[in-house]
Amino acid sequence: MKILLINDTHEKYGGAENFFFNLKKKLIERNYNVLSLGFSNNLSHDDRSIVFPISKNRFLRGLNRIIFNPFMYFKIKKAIKKFDPDIINLFNTNNYTPTLFKAISGYKVLQSILDYRLICPVFTCDKDEKLHICDGIICKNKYLIKNPLKKFIVFYQHKLFRKLTIKSISYYYTPSTHLKHCLELNDFHPIEQIPLFLTFKKGILNFDNVNFNSILYVGQIEVNKGIWDLVYSIKDVTKFLPKICLKIAGNGSQFYQIEKFIIKNKLENNIKLLGSIRNLKPLYEECCLLIVPSTIQESFGFVTAEAMFNSRAVLGSNRGATTWLVKDNITGEIFDPEKNELSEKIISLLNNKKKLMSYGFEAKKRITKIANTKKILEQIINLYKKNLYQ
Ligand SMILES: [Zn+2]
Repeated sequence: MKILLINDTHEKYGGAENFFFNLKKKLIERNYNVLSLGFSNNLSHDDRSIVFPISKNRFLRGLNRIIFNPFMYFKIKKAIKKFDPDIINLFNTNNYTPTLFKAISGYKVLQSILDYRLICPVFTCDKDEKLHICDGIICKNKYLIKNPLKKFIVFYQHKLFRKLTIKSISYYYTPSTHLKHCLELNDFHPIEQIPLFLTFKKGILNFDNVNFNSILYVGQIEVNKGIWDLVYSIKDVTKFLPKICLKIAGNGSQFYQIEKFIIKNKLENNIKLLGSIRNLKPLYEECCLLIVPSTIQESFGFVTAEAMFNSRAVLGSNRGATTWLVKDNITGEIFDPEKNELSEKIISLLNNKKKLMSYGFEAKKRITKIANTKKILEQIINLYKKNLYQ
């Protein structure tokens, strides 16, 4: 079976690319004939890759997302024809979208959907305002785009994107139950849920070095990650638990504002901004709880998964994959960021060490079961075979 993997970005960038290159590696290890194709200006690559450069001009890049480019079409088509794949596994398609879809027509194509872009047109559009839950049927985030021309382009592009996808793809797979549900609602089917590969080290198994006053946030310091809800809640919590200490690992546009807030409210002992941390293990060692207060849909939740690997309870918002990864009242707890319940939940959890430890042990069990690399790979290969002989 000859397998072609295609992603819009052919370099190590985010979670999607991580999964893309991991899958390629694992399929090669299983002796499949695999080739990857994508776009990048970093043109150093192995002989199992085909990489096309991408325009550095933002306008041209945007244009190539909505109009057909015959020059690029010719190049991609030629490369695909030469390899002659039995199956194409498409990932993200945000570069040369119409061109790419035309070039893969006639082949068996299935797609890994790793974010909510197909569901909500403005999902990635505005980083600074609170997004409402949008399942895509009628976009609830429309108001975020004020410029009418921009609004038209975003919605036109999204409509085209959906149309091309539905026309070209014979099967989908996606890592979370919530995303699967939303995709089905929006006519993307058939679809299967298959988790992502998790390549964390063994992880912590006990609570020997834990401080039951320390809690952890890991991720971007952005409004839509719920960071403000979290620091306001900590301010409330200090009235009841004066020793509480929130450690924030990460960077983002809100860093300095949060720093100011800490100083203004004399919370220096209760909130620590640590910046980006490469090795999180000592923090997991010390903290008894991870908080994921995101107000946008989490596609998979690597941070949640990593905390679970390290036997730590997770208190997460009811957004996206978090509600599937975290079994409410078993491996952690779920809260609604639109209700004012975060402070209350934190206080109740920190007052119950036994519960925190039980959640931690159960979290480790659950994530170990989910992150079965061999099983995940088997599921993907079976999907390829199923489509091939259909
Ligand atoms: Zn929307």
